[in-house]
Amino acid sequence: MTEYPVWDSLLPPSAHGRDSHRIVRVSGNRAVFADGVDAIDGTSGLWNVNLGYGNEAIAAAITGAVRDASYMSLFRRTHDYAIEAAAALIEAAGPARYSRVLFSTSGSSANDAMMKLARHHALLRGDTHRKVIVGLEGSYHGQTYGSFTLSGDDLSQHLYGVDTSLIRHVKHDDPAAMRALLTEIGDQVAAVVIEPVLGTGAHVVPAEMISTLLELRREHGFLLVCDEVAFGFGRSGSLFGSDRWAESPDLLVTSKGLTNGTCAASAILVGHSVFAEFAKADAMFVHGETQAGTPASCAAIVATLQQFDELHALESGARVAKLLEEGLKDLVDRVELAVEVTGAGCFRGLGLRAANGAELWPLHITKILSRIRDRGAVVQGGPSSIELIPPLTCTEDEVGELLRAVELGLADFTAERQAKRAR
Ligand code: PMP
Repeated sequence: MTEYPVWDSLLPPSAHGRDSHRIVRVSGNRAVFADGVDAIDGTSGLWNVNLGYGNEAIAAAITGAVRDASYMSLFRRTHDYAIEAAAALIEAAGPARYSRVLFSTSGSSANDAMMKLARHHALLRGDTHRKVIVGLEGSYHGQTYGSFTLSGDDLSQHLYGVDTSLIRHVKHDDPAAMRALLTEIGDQVAAVVIEPVLGTGAHVVPAEMISTLLELRREHGFLLVCDEVAFGFGRSGSLFGSDRWAESPDLLVTSKGLTNGTCAASAILVGHSVFAEFAKADAMFVHGETQAGTPASCAAIVATLQQFDELHALESGARVAKLLEEGLKDLVDRVELAVEVTGAGCFRGLGLRAANGAELWPLHITKILSRIRDRGAVVQGGPSSIELIPPLTCTEDEVGELLRAVELGLADFTAERQAKRAR
């Protein structure tokens, strides 16, 4: 235990300063902790280091950009690093789908910009009453006030004076409820925002919900937004999960894997018809951030996209996804605590229940995460579940190591509980 001045805000102060929480080294697909545990990183950092740690080409691109141009702003200006990154993103996501890229600095801030953009777009079309944004129950969109308000997961919003009067939420697997809401207030809705796999619990939005939304968009004229901050950059099996939708979203929000975790960056890919409204009115969109689209972050985006090709990351990710799915299903068959596999691609959840079928408490999940880490794997906790979001570049051995640590950690937890009961 070492005292340090960083406020570990997501831990209670009584848990601050533990060596088991302090990462001292990362490389490849592994993280080493201050207490000496060397673990396979089953969360890819915070779901962003999709190509593993220490990618030399990305590091060289960032270093080169910083040497060449410490800083250039996008404040009523632009620069070639930003132009190149925007062009590369549009080329990768589909030039027929998107016409412009708006840079931001995090998933949260991009979602705030997205909410402003959707409402401004409605105003430009003369829809002065369209202000409501619809999200999904249980969704996560970020920590800034807009994205925090839109998040359908309980993040203790009630503590912070959040105004939800222009926000509605619908269950992720209830297309009938979405249809009913839009029949009622469709003319007031500026945007419907989908997180394709809910980060909390890794529940997949069913295909029927997506097709219903595409149909309802034609009927009611709202913008359909896909928040791919977590599920983009290869987690789904394609670069973006919405690549497989029959029609593209109007706005696609991306971050996390965008720079492989190296730079604070995010981007909104803007569909042709959305930008056309701003062009027609010759309206500026009042959104700018000092550190959005820096030369370093833009160079990192271009290099990350190149590395996806060079490392055949999507193919590698497909192998990891298959091993992960098979391995987790095997755990459900053999381990009493494990009851279901959720998620898709390289974004998976393992549902856990007590022997009597009851959900596990957050305190139990915290203990399980700790036991699994002690056995050599970092995984994340969900509601009565754990989540595995490993780098797409994991080898077969590394996936095996990850699954073994999960199994051993769960066994340690069960043994402890039984010993406690016997006492
Ligand atoms: N949207 C989704 C779907 C996310 O998973 C996250 C981060 N977990 C965010 C938005 C917020 O991104 P950031 O943490 O970069 O602000």
